[in-house]
Amino acid sequence: MTFQAPKGTFDWMPPRSETVLAVRDALAAPARRAGYGYVETPAFEDTGLFSRGVGESTDIVTKEMYTFTSRGGQSLTLRPEGTASVVRAVIEHGLYGGPLPIKLWYSGSFFRYERAQAGRYRHFSQVGAEALGAEDPALDAELIVLAMDGYASLGLRRVRLLLNSLGCKECRPAYRAALQDFLRALDLDEATRQRIEINPLRVLDDKRPEVRAQLADAPLVTDHLCGACKAYHEEVRGLLTAAGVPYEDDPRLVRGLDYYTRTTFEFVHDGLGAQSAVGGGGRYDGLSEMIGGPQLPGVGWALGVDRTVLALEAEGLLAERAGRVDVFAVPLGEEARRRIFPLVAALRRAGLAVDMSFGGRGVKGAMKAADRSGARYAVILGDRDIEAGAVQVKDLTTADQTAVPFAEVVDVLKGRLS
Ligand code: ATP
Ligand code: MG
Repeated sequence: MTFQAPKGTFDWMPPRSETVLAVRDALAAPARRAGYGYVETPAFEDTGLFSRGVGESTDIVTKEMYTFTSRGGQSLTLRPEGTASVVRAVIEHGLYGGPLPIKLWYSGSFFRYERAQAGRYRHFSQVGAEALGAEDPALDAELIVLAMDGYASLGLRRVRLLLNSLGCKECRPAYRAALQDFLRALDLDEATRQRIEINPLRVLDDKRPEVRAQLADAPLVTDHLCGACKAYHEEVRGLLTAAGVPYEDDPRLVRGLDYYTRTTFEFVHDGLGAQSAVGGGGRYDGLSEMIGGPQLPGVGWALGVDRTVLALEAEGLLAERAGRVDVFAVPLGEEARRRIFPLVAALRRAGLAVDMSFGGRGVKGAMKAADRSGARYAVILGDRDIEAGAVQVKDLTTADQTAVPFAEVVDVLKGRLS
């Protein structure tokens, strides 16, 4: 019996896995530099947190959650997204009573029982950032700029920013009613008809061509914004422009989750086919109250690590080769292995990246391994060198070889590699 990773999941293996690490770091770095603190929440939560926080009418809650009953009889769900957990943690720890806004970032695994396809997995990874406790267009703009800076720092050139506003408690109801009137007249299946009554905005997010075709003349939320929402949106757009971040207005952009208000945005990449969103987010002013917390406005994004890796590959941008080392040690024989082992440890403690040949390979196999390692230098130790108290340091690019006394190897290699 052999096992495979479950459907919709896969392993990131070297050398591609190196890009995954680089993407996580690069996407989080701008937020960290902007005062966002790291938050780590559990990979599972009370099911109710997601059904209330993500929304009963969303695909995530109705079809995609990994829900199970714990041995203690509690209904738990593997987290399908991060915002509800972060807001739960902020409420639980009473952070809203301290300095505002609260700025947090996270990184981790998320789980959705989706139809598995390229760029759409059942286990995937996101880097996210949230800012709570201030309703300030500069905060919306800040988050968007940070995400764009993260993509740019990876060298990505084909990420586009789509921007919209979904209005607020004041203006959304009238828009919702107008949209419902429009949608009820269309030729739609029963499930979609039900969705019109529960959450009509979500129908605009339908990806099916036969539905999309009918939505061409749907009323646009941007034509229904109240004065305050319009002004807020103008301010966000102005700040983005001032920071040199281009955007495209997309009045049809709605997001998969129920809790968004005002600013919504998505980052798309054109090299990814149907699964083009590499990230998205927006403002969610009602979420805290929806999960039993105080009134606490918030804005945030989640960036897909896996799709960002695919975007890098689509642009031909690959990270450094995996596990690349500076030095490769080649002991010829057992005594040489005993002597070279502590030297390898000392080189590593001195900050060099060092690997060695294992498994008692002959000189030919060991030198091949040294070449494959990408190392600049090989440190070779044979019987004669042991007697002489020295190692052979071979420059693998020029093939120059010099004997270096044991006691000097660390300094010599540190010097040559600096
Ligand atoms: P989509 O419209 O593609 O389903 P979404 O609106 O469900 O995306 P979010 O919940 O906003 O996505 O998640 C933010 C980002 O996380 C997405 O833009 C995407 O890059 C990534 N992501 C979401 N779901 C998946 C998945 N099943 N597999 C891989 N990445 C995902
Ligand atoms: Mg989705």
